[in-house]
Amino acid sequence: MPRKGEFGSPQADLIDEISPEGWRFLYCSPESRYPSIAALSRRFSVTHRVIKNRLVAAGIKPRTIAEQAAIEYRTGRKSRKAPQRPDRAATLLAFYEEHPEARIGRKHSPETRRKIGQARFSRLTVSCEWCGLPVEVNLWRYNANGGKAFCSLGHSAAFKALRHRFGLDAPRPLIVARLRELNRGWPNTWERLEKVGAQIGAREPEIEAVLLEALG
Ligand SMILES: [Zn+2]
Repeated sequence: MPRKGEFGSPQADLIDEISPEGWRFLYCSPESRYPSIAALSRRFSVTHRVIKNRLVAAGIKPRTIAEQAAIEYRTGRKSRKAPQRPDRAATLLAFYEEHPEARIGRKHSPETRRKIGQARFSRLTVSCEWCGLPVEVNLWRYNANGGKAFCSLGHSAAFKALRHRFGLDAPRPLIVARLRELNRGWPNTWERLEKVGAQIGAREPEIEAVLLEALG
């Protein structure tokens, strides 16, 4: 099977029959339906190079790209306007008009979508994991951080350092100090310390530390 544009292929045989005048008409005449190398190569299913060789053999000088473009513009086959990017948003909207079920947002009810939207803005006040002072946090971010919040990066780093050095059950010194202060003048019982400590996020290790201090 001869390759595209090779001699011996049916297309090449066909273009063999075209006379030099025929080439001149096809390539140069305003009435031609194939007035470019690209159009002729499509018409005869051969490469641009084959067409170019035939034109040269017929005594015709192939046009430069600029000359060809000038003709294309003049005859209106090509527009001088820069090609426009397709309007993606409009295309998408048109698609959704036709296929409303494809809209991802539609898989939630309006009520659920409202809640999802609200969650971005909902804030709550929790205590800093290091010092126990109240911090206002974004609910979504708070949950994403594993239910931990800090009043500053420094306190976050100090918390991590303590956990790294002494493990998960180490009492946090600032929390212990604040718990001791909050309960000053009251009996040191587990129940009371637990109740008082809730407001600064104190947990078992800190309560134990305060109780041990009181005993010792
Ligand atoms: Zn803090």
